[in-house]
Amino acid sequence: MRLYDTKARAVVSVAPAGDVLKIYACGPTVYRYAHVGNLRTFLLLDLITRLAHLNGWKTSVIQNITDVGHLVDDTQVDAQGEDKILEQAKLEGKDPFAIARFYEEAFHKDLKALNVLPADVYPRASESIQLIIDLCQKLEEAGHAYVGTDGSLFFDARSFPTYGALSGNSLDHLKPGHRLEGKGGEAKRFHADWALWKNAGTDRAMTWPSPWGNGFPGWHIECSAMSLEHLGESIDVHLGGIDLRFPHHEDERAQSDSVGGLEVVKHWVHGEHLLFEGRKMSKSSGNVVLVSDLIARGFDPLALRLSFLESRYRTQLDLSWAAIAAAHKTITRWRLQLTTWRNPEVVMTPATSQAIEQGLVLLQEDLNSPALIQLLRKIEKDDALPLDQRAILFDYFDQFLGLDLTRQEVKEGSTEINELLRLREDARSRGEWKRSDELREALADLDVEVRDTATGQAWEWRS
Ligand code: AMP
Ligand code: ZN
Repeated sequence: MRLYDTKARAVVSVAPAGDVLKIYACGPTVYRYAHVGNLRTFLLLDLITRLAHLNGWKTSVIQNITDVGHLVDDTQVDAQGEDKILEQAKLEGKDPFAIARFYEEAFHKDLKALNVLPADVYPRASESIQLIIDLCQKLEEAGHAYVGTDGSLFFDARSFPTYGALSGNSLDHLKPGHRLEGKGGEAKRFHADWALWKNAGTDRAMTWPSPWGNGFPGWHIECSAMSLEHLGESIDVHLGGIDLRFPHHEDERAQSDSVGGLEVVKHWVHGEHLLFEGRKMSKSSGNVVLVSDLIARGFDPLALRLSFLESRYRTQLDLSWAAIAAAHKTITRWRLQLTTWRNPEVVMTPATSQAIEQGLVLLQEDLNSPALIQLLRKIEKDDALPLDQRAILFDYFDQFLGLDLTRQEVKEGSTEINELLRLREDARSRGEWKRSDELREALADLDVEVRDTATGQAWEWRS
């Protein structure tokens, strides 16, 4: 497998040292539902894991849950900064841990809806506090950290000679006045230093006692602590969205390597951002789309997965409802065709095994999933290939695509569902509630669950 390594600035060969590929992926900050942009990044972990399995490797996958210490403004280095979870807890009038657990569960549901294979462990920052404190102590003892004038513990960026190697930012470029200086900058010695442990006193929720007083960990240190604990000092791939390259991953690298004394992470891999109708998906752009929005519009969430696969993880993807609708149609067509194409008796021909090789080559070269989809579209229409051979190819690559192509899809394509939905809408517009209920039953028999919303009826597959 070859992947684009951000630090090497090239596509490089990636392979496990033994027979287990060790992967760490930065997980969600659990203060809100993950939007589909976040999910694009989380899907990258799944794609690499699935390809590793096709290669016959085992994987050890860790994805952290950030449930403390991620400030609303990452440039804040003092303890006054508002924590994303505390802020949401105030807004919803709930306990911060209740907020964190609620959105953590929602995250797992979203992953499941997208057929993302679960990680082996999802360690929570709030349950890794001792590990974090131990790591902070090691850094302090080794002279990489110092206590600032506010009592917080800071990492000394100048103590790590190759700081900036990952993102291309040199300490020189990060001059005072740069936005990273932060408002609490005066507590630390140097503009590029960052807080490992924030001294916060006791009048704040989610704090813990530590050698540096009551407080809470900085965001970057949790990933160093959890990755070293669960994967050791040699990690094959560390993943995240492109925005995490700096400062999050740059700082993680400095922390981990300063205690490990070597290059802990072999390859840093970053997924590009998702745009929606032209703009980066984010709360501030006001274009956030959730998995539940897709379901409410009657789309299979796996249509989103196919839309993601149709562009390479390393390019920006501008998504639209039209693209999702098209992907939904494609998946439905594939499932329908495959129910009639499959033949359990058939043996793979040399042409088919050649096509498998061809598809695998595309994936091994920096996860060229769009090229694989193109290949499958060609196979779909390739009259030289018998239908049952085409089915073998689709089923083989579905191990990577994860589109549930084996799902029995005899309904929508045959317009039966659409017809029943239309009849039910008519019945409701005439106030024929009994008829409407009968039609709901008929749809339920086809595994379709109908909900009545302010804008009409919505439906989804019953899980
Ligand atoms: P967060 O929950 O905010 O910590 O973000 C979780 C992950 O989503 C991180 O790896 C981010 O880099 C990634 N991310 C945030 N916005 C986008 C986006 N628009 N497209 C793709 N990934 C994103
Ligand atoms: Zn991280």
